Amino acid sequence: MCSESEDDGRAHLPSFKRSHHYHLFVVETICVNQARTPENKYTAARFPVMDVVAKHHPSREPHSRATENYPHPFTGKRGVERYKSFVYQEARWANPKTKTEIEIPIEPRANSRAICSDCDKQAPGYDRLAERRFEFVPLWQITVYFVYAMRRVDCPRCGVKVERVPWCDGKNQLTTTYRWFLSGWAKRLSWKGVADALETTWQNVFRSVKHAVSWGLAHRNLEGIESIGVDEVQWQQGHKYLTFVYQIDGGRKRLLWIGKDRTMKTFLRFFRMLGKERCGKLKFVCSDMWKPYLRVIAKKAGHAIHVLDRFHIMQKMPLTK
Ligand SMILES: [Zn+2]
Repeated sequence: MCSESEDDGRAHLPSFKRSHHYHLFVVETICVNQARTPENKYTAARFPVMDVVAKHHPSREPHSRATENYPHPFTGKRGVERYKSFVYQEARWANPKTKTEIEIPIEPRANSRAICSDCDKQAPGYDRLAERRFEFVPLWQITVYFVYAMRRVDCPRCGVKVERVPWCDGKNQLTTTYRWFLSGWAKRLSWKGVADALETTWQNVFRSVKHAVSWGLAHRNLEGIESIGVDEVQWQQGHKYLTFVYQIDGGRKRLLWIGKDRTMKTFLRFFRMLGKERCGKLKFVCSDMWKPYLRVIAKKAGHAIHVLDRFHIMQKMPLTK
């Protein structure tokens, strides 16, 4: 299966056309290549990659046992990603000599129509752009790229547009999965730590976190907020402040909003974001005695019970001093 004579970069990667287990396949094959123990070259190096496999392999014996111990930490999803209208082609080394990058070409399924990225509807084809690489989650320290030539559609509604592909959005060079992977690690390590450990750039980690945050903001539910707390935080060692607004309901405590400064304008922006209707549903607002906040609360949530933060009140009480 691995004849050394072929040197087209595919020699060590047996065909797994249309296989959705390609991750496992790649992992196993690379193991074979890297640990050439004559007696049992197949199993020798296979074991250490169990957790890599666990994240990508559909739960099947014998790997399903590994998946129990290594649940996917990022999206809760397990298994190889499949994209309905696209087919993975044979994987290859980007450079057979250095073997540091794996390329997995993708082709649209025959007769499938591209989807317009503007209106999300199928549209007739127009032309095809040059091939692009999309970075996927690395295997070991080997970078993995999808390679795909985007189609353009001639959409009757939007004109000529680039198609929408399921593994990536917009002009991103990182696949969505890889961005979630990086931002997942960024919760556990510093951004630089993630970049160093995964041999990527700080910018990639930063963009991934940004993507996760904006996704979270777009998808978060602001209904049912009854109690909020506002506080200022000093930063940059000077007299610079940020305003933090939290939800402090019994079952749900979370940071809702951060604004620059601690002025009336700042805090008003929060209420604008929350919207009139939801402001009307507030029952409790907790703050310190910072005047601009007090004014905004009176104006925007005058109906709510205003709780003055005990810590701050105590500070002002002459008796406790
Ligand atoms: Zn369209």
